[in-house]
Amino acid sequence: NAIQKPRGRMFFANPGPTNIPDSVMRAVSHASIDFNDADFFELYERCVAGLKRVLRTKQHLFFYTASGHGAWEASMANLFNTGDTLLVIETGHFSESWAKMGKALGLCIDTLPADWRKGADFCALRAKLAGDTEHRIKAVCAVHNETAAGTMLDIGAVRAAMDAAGHPALLLADTISSLASLPFEMDAWGVDVVVGGSQKGLMLPTGFSFTGVSEKALEAHKGSRIPKHYFDWSEMLTRRHRSFIGTVPTTLFYGLAESLRLLEEEGLEQVWARHTRLARAVRAAVKHWSGNGPNSNVGGPELYCQDDARASDSVTAILMPDGHDADAVRATCRNRFNVSLGAGLNKLAGRVFRIGHLGDLNEPMVLGTLASVEMALKLNNVPHRPGGVAAAMEELTA
Ligand code: PLP
Repeated sequence: NAIQKPRGRMFFANPGPTNIPDSVMRAVSHASIDFNDADFFELYERCVAGLKRVLRTKQHLFFYTASGHGAWEASMANLFNTGDTLLVIETGHFSESWAKMGKALGLCIDTLPADWRKGADFCALRAKLAGDTEHRIKAVCAVHNETAAGTMLDIGAVRAAMDAAGHPALLLADTISSLASLPFEMDAWGVDVVVGGSQKGLMLPTGFSFTGVSEKALEAHKGSRIPKHYFDWSEMLTRRHRSFIGTVPTTLFYGLAESLRLLEEEGLEQVWARHTRLARAVRAAVKHWSGNGPNSNVGGPELYCQDDARASDSVTAILMPDGHDADAVRATCRNRFNVSLGAGLNKLAGRVFRIGHLGDLNEPMVLGTLASVEMALKLNNVPHRPGGVAAAMEELTA
């Protein structure tokens, strides 16, 4: 009964890391080069300018040789003092993790509670900020796309609530699973610090992250006393690259230059539109599988996000019917069909599986993944209405 090793290319449908385009793979295999070499410096400056275009900012950018957690830590260590209060908008596992990091750094975390399936209430946010008449809250932390729940948080609406309350807090946005996938506008939305990573919409290897930083945030940084060195923006600004205290990861910049070229070749708006198109197809399949309508109740897997307007266009979290194991479906997909899906995180472990649909992806890749999931549902005797793939195809050709 040994499982045969599946042949063919793996269909990688995790919500990060994501598929790395062949041309990016080739680019990151560049030979070593002195990071102060004029050729590299020209490429580096091109990357800075290109990434600022993706962030939609004309302000500052700092890079870190670390995954997104490093950029999270930099965003907090560079702005605050021990005991400062931050308001974290609850979205799911990743808002909890960012809050946990803040606590570990000595910050006081206030949370705007929210149902993970429905998302935050902006009226409650506005009321909370308006009630903070002494301006104890130094920053609002918002995860633009909650990768664990498959929900999107409207950052423009967060900014509007802050403005309506007349609150001067900084706005920090985590775009780790939204940048170069969902529309994002750092300057137009008045975001002070944007946290981003390499391994999702930017289609790069993991281990590289960055923060976009506003003038206002850089001013706040000058008063911050949380100990730091490797991530210290002031220290970075003294360096030629205005980032990196140590060796610059040159090969990742060759990759970044290529991924930026691909994004600009397609056009950022078209990239966003493609993500919306593919996400709608995935949601059409899941809604079909659930089989729940006015005249039927199949009790199949359903969308974890209960508000269509807030459903993420980069990842879909799918909730299993009671008594059925999400990890069994994932295992069948992986072992039998060579399709890799994301696991449920935190309290969703075993109850949810996730289909990542961001980065270097097209219609047949999504349809192949959906077909494998549908077969895995059948093989695991999970109740569902067959025909989800056809529903996705219908959505893609409507
Ligand atoms: N924030 C979000 C929204 C994420 O999806 C992730 C990782 O998936 C992180 C933060 C943490 O980033 P990293 O795993 O790159 O450290």
